[in-house]
Amino acid sequence: MSITKVHARTVYDSRGNPTVEVEITTENGLFRAIVPSGASTGIHEAVELRDGNKSEWMGKGVTKAVSNVNSIIGPALIKSELCVTNQKGIDELMISLDGTSNKSRLGANAILGVSLCVARAAAAQKGITLYKYIAELADARQDPFVIPVPFFNVLNGGAHAGGSLAMQEFKIAPVGAQSFAEAMRMGSEVYHHLKILAKEQYGPSAGNVGDEGGVAPDIDTAEDALDMIVEAINICGYEGRVKVGIDSAPSVFYKDGKYDLNFKEPNSDPSHWLSPAQLAEYYYSLLKKYPIISLEDPYAEDDWSSWSAFLKTVNVQIIADDLTCTNKTRIARAIEEKCANTLLLKLNQIGTLTESIEAANQAFDAGWGVMISHRSGETEDPFIADLVVGFRCGQIKSGALSRSESLAKYNELLRIEEELGDDCIYAGHRFHDGNKL
Ligand code: PEP
Ligand code: MG
Repeated sequence: MSITKVHARTVYDSRGNPTVEVEITTENGLFRAIVPSGASTGIHEAVELRDGNKSEWMGKGVTKAVSNVNSIIGPALIKSELCVTNQKGIDELMISLDGTSNKSRLGANAILGVSLCVARAAAAQKGITLYKYIAELADARQDPFVIPVPFFNVLNGGAHAGGSLAMQEFKIAPVGAQSFAEAMRMGSEVYHHLKILAKEQYGPSAGNVGDEGGVAPDIDTAEDALDMIVEAINICGYEGRVKVGIDSAPSVFYKDGKYDLNFKEPNSDPSHWLSPAQLAEYYYSLLKKYPIISLEDPYAEDDWSSWSAFLKTVNVQIIADDLTCTNKTRIARAIEEKCANTLLLKLNQIGTLTESIEAANQAFDAGWGVMISHRSGETEDPFIADLVVGFRCGQIKSGALSRSESLAKYNELLRIEEELGDDCIYAGHRFHDGNKL
């Protein structure tokens, strides 16, 4: 069934910035998708088209991207008469309409909004759920479906919070839960105990939250954060069942070949900046002391040799985010140079569902894991909940257990788990190998 109407408008994300919402109409009804936006954005991501007119929305308007959907992509799709079930054909048409290697003409935000709407329309046409449709598109096994371990970002730093903490995300992962529903209860209890500890130890304002809904106390070091998180886990009696993950997101504090853990201080002393080898030593000390199972972006987005040297020396999950940017050329290089063992997959880093499927399968074929991720500027659209189940990834991150833009995804996963009943399993300790379960 082909598309009869395409309409885009400006709506707002969780930071109050404009973003693109797209609606597609077919004979089956109207389908909608909203595009998210990052803050610690990798420089190799597909281009998020912003107007740049400082007198409106501080330059962050998306009126050009909206108009590209309404006046270029929409008419071309309708004219093409491509069926909504032809996801690849539609995505390829948009890629060729754009004509650039990084989607800078039409904008990845314009293209992605349409791409996700098309998938929803196709699932409706086939009369199946979105996650089942995505599994078909990705050629993923469906017996049983795999419900992911949520990596809740309960303590925010780096570019996502004020305060001096350099590293961006401190996540808890209830790998010892028996189900996603239990993982949510465990995560919620730990999160609330963490909030109490943060206020007790750093004053009432320490319970205020950062961009991803995690607490954001004004602390200096990763140890301060991890001590508090481990204490909260232990208070709840979840030692061994709730583990920890970090996203250092160091591209923002990489300077002159070194890593500045004091980067928020304008007069930071260069003699304290860490060499890649010193940063590795620091990671080893954290890995020794805390129950860390996952480390994202240990090094900056173009510091390839530090990544591969580090991977040889550790046996935890090492996730590539800014390094790979869901981009097949960069993923191929990271696989070849053995930089990481897991891909962070963000739809808007590449801009179409088809290319995201290719990225996930490229990672799986190399024996990597895949974690599906939201962005720090999110919306109420729960698309990635269906995506993670459809791809059989076994792991997702969508912020903390607060703010509805994060909970929209986790709540959708609760519904999917309930709907599937005995036809799904919770990934648990095997989160890295979701596709192999
Ligand atoms: C991340 O770095 O993994 C992340 C989710 O943050 P952002 O969306 O700001 O890139
Ligand atoms: Mg990251």
